[in-house]
Amino acid sequence: MMPVPDPPVPTSPIRDEVDRAVEELRLAERAAELDRQPEFPKAEFRALGERGLLGLHTATRLGGRGLSLLDSAATLYRLAYRSGSTTFAKLSLQPEFSSVLAELGSDALVASYFVPLCRGERLIGNQVTEPAAGSDPRGMAFEALRDDRGYRLRGTKSQAAFAVDAEAAIVYARVPAHSAGPGGITAFLVPQDRPGIDRRLVPDLGERWMRRGAVRYENVPIGPEFRLGEEGKGLEYVLPELTRERALLAMIYLGVARRSLEETVEFVGQRETFGRPLSQQQSVSFPLVEDWSDADAATLYALRSIEKLSDGEEATAEAALSKWMATDVALTTLDHAIQFHGGRGYSTELPFERQWRDVRSGGIAHGPSELMHRAGARRLWPPPQKA
Ligand SMILES: Cc1cc2nc3c(=O)[nH]c(=O)nc-3n(C[C@H](O)[C@H](O)[C@H](O)COP(=O)(O)OP(=O)(O)OC[C@H]3O[C@@H](n4cnc5c(N)ncnc54)[C@H](O)[C@@H]3O)c2cc1C
Repeated sequence: MMPVPDPPVPTSPIRDEVDRAVEELRLAERAAELDRQPEFPKAEFRALGERGLLGLHTATRLGGRGLSLLDSAATLYRLAYRSGSTTFAKLSLQPEFSSVLAELGSDALVASYFVPLCRGERLIGNQVTEPAAGSDPRGMAFEALRDDRGYRLRGTKSQAAFAVDAEAAIVYARVPAHSAGPGGITAFLVPQDRPGIDRRLVPDLGERWMRRGAVRYENVPIGPEFRLGEEGKGLEYVLPELTRERALLAMIYLGVARRSLEETVEFVGQRETFGRPLSQQQSVSFPLVEDWSDADAATLYALRSIEKLSDGEEATAEAALSKWMATDVALTTLDHAIQFHGGRGYSTELPFERQWRDVRSGGIAHGPSELMHRAGARRLWPPPQKA
């Protein structure tokens, strides 16, 4: 590879393990196969679990790897970079996406669902979004109606990753006794094989292995032991998790971007048109120089938000802006990779079009980019405190 100066990312303490996993499990090739034939990568999930590569930032007593947030970030970056894909780094993050279960579930729930998740044995989804409530959960209509044996769930969740593959999902519902608005929402762990649950796949542009879709609940009974935390506090619990996720997702998108940048820099240094290498054309070299500096800047910014979170500081806005910046930089870099590789760049022979489609989700999933800006605006102009 041509020497693009090293990115400003600390070396992962388990870098060799990651590199070995990518080689031995053929993760780069598998990412392409999973795009062509979308399915949940069960074997790789299990293998990553066996190798201790799921739940990098999750405590070892819960089955995770117990790395610091910064080491997790460096490791996810490496995994995305080496596999040239968001797939396996996002798979690795699944336990962190379910930290509400680890923190608030009973010992029995943690033992039978969360620990197996870290081993790659059980997949847990998250179901927040509904047809009429995505960015703004105040519109959530999904209900958990109390009855003498616990609750009955009814309503429809939409757009959920692993809609058809998850063994269980963390489901957010309104218990009618509680106030309207975000304050009234309660989290439950719901095994997805209960009668009354109907799951439907809706194919996607990218990240097809997630097999997203809609899940309809028709009076599905669930005992109180499946409730996570107190009634009405579901969203309060999920917000800190969401902030960490956004900062880590930024590192995944930047890992993929870095890989494509290096490949494009090498290619334009060799490919000749009109008697000289493409790299001699400023219209080609300058955008790539900008990609390099933008990627380094976005990486430093994401690492800064990770450092703040590690120090226990408030970094909601920084983490949100990290995700937006990383997505934007990665999409531009991938677009340049497609463009400067010419006709092959646009084809499925090269990975860039798939990487672009995968990274494109970053502008919507875990909060659209506009809401990331909104988090920044709220930092600059905080909303007045209610008396
Ligand atoms: C790959 C992927 C995986 C996902 N996985 C899950 C999952 O596992 N579980 C789950 O529950 N959901 C999941 N989602 C759904 C995701 O969380 C929602 O799509 C997202 O929160 C936006 O909600 P919405 O689609 O209802 O869009 P809306 O809220 O209807 O917004 C539509 C668009 O309007 C704009 N917008 C919205 N609000 C504002 C505002 N205040 N100011 C300016 N512009 C605004 C944004 O461009 C936004 O994309 C996933 C989405 C994707 C793409």
